[in-house]
Amino acid sequence: MATKQIIVIGGGAAGFFAAINVAEMRPDYRVIILEKSNKLLSKVRISGGGRCNVTNHTFETSELVKNYPRGAKELRQVFSRFAVKDTIDWFEKRGVKLKAEADGRMFPLTDSSETIIDCFLNEAKRLNVKINLEVEVLDLVKQENGQIQVITNRTTYTCDAVICSSGGHNQKKNYNFIEKAGHTISELIPSLFTINLKSEAITELMGLSVKNATVRVEGTKHQYTGPVLITHWGFSGPAVLKLSAFAAKDFFEKNYNAGILINWTGSLSEEQVKNEFEKHSASKALMVNAPLFDIPKRLWEYILLRAELALTKPWIELGKKQQNKLAQVLCADRYQMRGKTTFKEEFVTSGGVNLKEIDFRTMQSKIMPNLYFCGEVIDIDGITGGFNFQNAWSTAYVAASSVG
Ligand SMILES: Cc1cc2nc3c(=O)[nH]c(=O)nc-3n(C[C@H](O)[C@H](O)[C@H](O)COP(=O)(O)OP(=O)(O)OC[C@H]3O[C@@H](n4cnc5c(N)ncnc54)[C@H](O)[C@@H]3O)c2cc1C
Repeated sequence: MATKQIIVIGGGAAGFFAAINVAEMRPDYRVIILEKSNKLLSKVRISGGGRCNVTNHTFETSELVKNYPRGAKELRQVFSRFAVKDTIDWFEKRGVKLKAEADGRMFPLTDSSETIIDCFLNEAKRLNVKINLEVEVLDLVKQENGQIQVITNRTTYTCDAVICSSGGHNQKKNYNFIEKAGHTISELIPSLFTINLKSEAITELMGLSVKNATVRVEGTKHQYTGPVLITHWGFSGPAVLKLSAFAAKDFFEKNYNAGILINWTGSLSEEQVKNEFEKHSASKALMVNAPLFDIPKRLWEYILLRAELALTKPWIELGKKQQNKLAQVLCADRYQMRGKTTFKEEFVTSGGVNLKEIDFRTMQSKIMPNLYFCGEVIDIDGITGGFNFQNAWSTAYVAASSVG
């Protein structure tokens, strides 16, 4: 006879992690996952292009939290309980070794998300976690004795605790049962997208990437430096994705119609760039043959033309006015963003259960006792690189520990 019954809402990453950990900590509890679709772990399956970017090789909490545009402060205490090293150990203890790539992303050694899915399904089976598919939670009702009634499209469950891991969605209706329980849902806004330009000549350079450019949203403080990729529709790459996440609200408010300024030199000022030109001022070499600042040759050529310089011009003939113009194009090249494109490798919705309504020491709701939250349902999201799953593992572990 089970001593307590625990309901986990959602058979995704956070739900499985929470259910397995509760079941392991408390074999005397009956743990049930309710999943509204007929599939389990569907995002895990497609994650990281089918390889599942499980976490990121960032061991310092102070560094790790910098990758969360929303929730960084709250995650500090969560990560003090369960962070990247714990994730690696957790999977390794269950026979799943993770490896880190040069950019810090960590994947299973097998490079297959099926490894993570198999691990979860086997663990759930070993620990007698019950899984009910096609059961959609519609309502949570607090009982006088502290228990919660979970009303679904099939039947009603009475349980001692609910762990809500119903994920991130772009439609408010998916949060109805949480709102009815008394919670507020912060505005749902897309995050992690790339920038569309309308018929700009630069898109002819598609496929070309710059190792270190700074991308800025005009009229805001948001700017990020890193690799920028030119695509057939506009700009992508790590610096652009990071910008899209941190400036998600500004982009949304501007209806994805914003001025984008690119510093192709990385972070040099126009003065520093002009000082660099001075070093070449006596050179008879053609400018087009001597790209500066690690800029790829084809892009350098494009930048010279954009600064209205003939490709036949030698450095020695670069006048003061032309220097100013070229420096301005190099440091603040302006484009008009016209819409966005979802980053298919990994996309998330910012917004979700209001952070103020959760006690992050336990992940318990401050509104309904014995209701816990974990994963993307909370108003927390990370940038690309394994940080969203790390949020799922860490918040799920803390919720499970509190319940267990
Ligand atoms: C294409 C893609 C690739 C990604 N790749 C990566 C990656 O490589 N690395 C990374 O860190 N992040 C990645 N992410 C983000 C990551 O997948 C999510 O952050 C993570 O899956 C969130 O886990 P979750 O359990 O909170 O939510 P989900 O995985 O969305 O699971 C929620 C589950 O709850 C169910 N549910 C919802 N409402 C109800 C209800 N009322 N009743 C019952 N069940 C319900 C849903 O059907 C779903 O199965 C990717 C996302 C996408 C879309």
